[in-house]
Amino acid sequence: MQRILIIEDEVSIAELERDYLEINQFAAEIETTGTGGLQKALSNDYDLILLDLMLPGMDGFEICKRIRAEKDIPILMVSAKKEDIDKIRGLGLGADDYIVKPFSPSELVARVKAHLSRYERLSGSKEKANEEIRVGGLVMDKTSRRIFVNGVEVAFTTKEFDLLGFLLLNPNRVFSKEDLFERIWGIDSIGDIATVTVHIRKIREKIEQDPSKPQYIETVWGAGYRFKL
Ligand code: CA
Repeated sequence: MQRILIIEDEVSIAELERDYLEINQFAAEIETTGTGGLQKALSNDYDLILLDLMLPGMDGFEICKRIRAEKDIPILMVSAKKEDIDKIRGLGLGADDYIVKPFSPSELVARVKAHLSRYERLSGSKEKANEEIRVGGLVMDKTSRRIFVNGVEVAFTTKEFDLLGFLLLNPNRVFSKEDLFERIWGIDSIGDIATVTVHIRKIREKIEQDPSKPQYIETVWGAGYRFKL
């Protein structure tokens, strides 16, 4: 049975979420404070986290960032305000999805199922040796570190490969330039976020048919980049 942690301070909402998840054969636990939720999320093996934004102790933004730093599991953020969605996107916290309250229980269950199966597919493929990732005409062979575009091998520098690989392995998530710089180059590296822009441009020139109308790596204005699947 897959385990879901609900971090939500409104008990009636938390119980509603838990009941619907249980009806759908998930094991669900509730934690009503931010600090307690974070601790539980980090010390247990959950398959998915349902995370409210406004919480006592520590808010959902901070919790999401800290869980993401340690765990690769789906995080669905729940918010009462539509405006928060832009903020969640803009911060590049690594949330997988967001649901606006009030939501229908069936919508919640559908989203949970969709994210669990996507993660299963991704983590399942990670275990295979000699791994190839294919998206459209783009093929990345992680083992030999080679990239093919429409059947033709294209030369990539180490950092270009790492950057494309990271985006490809975390599709549909928006990452800010700062975040990408820290992840690929390391926080202490010399350089700045302009390095990221330059590398994205070079990658696009190599993989996109028309780099000015990218079909793989999308620019999310004011937020960063995401690999579209
Ligand atoms: Ca709340």
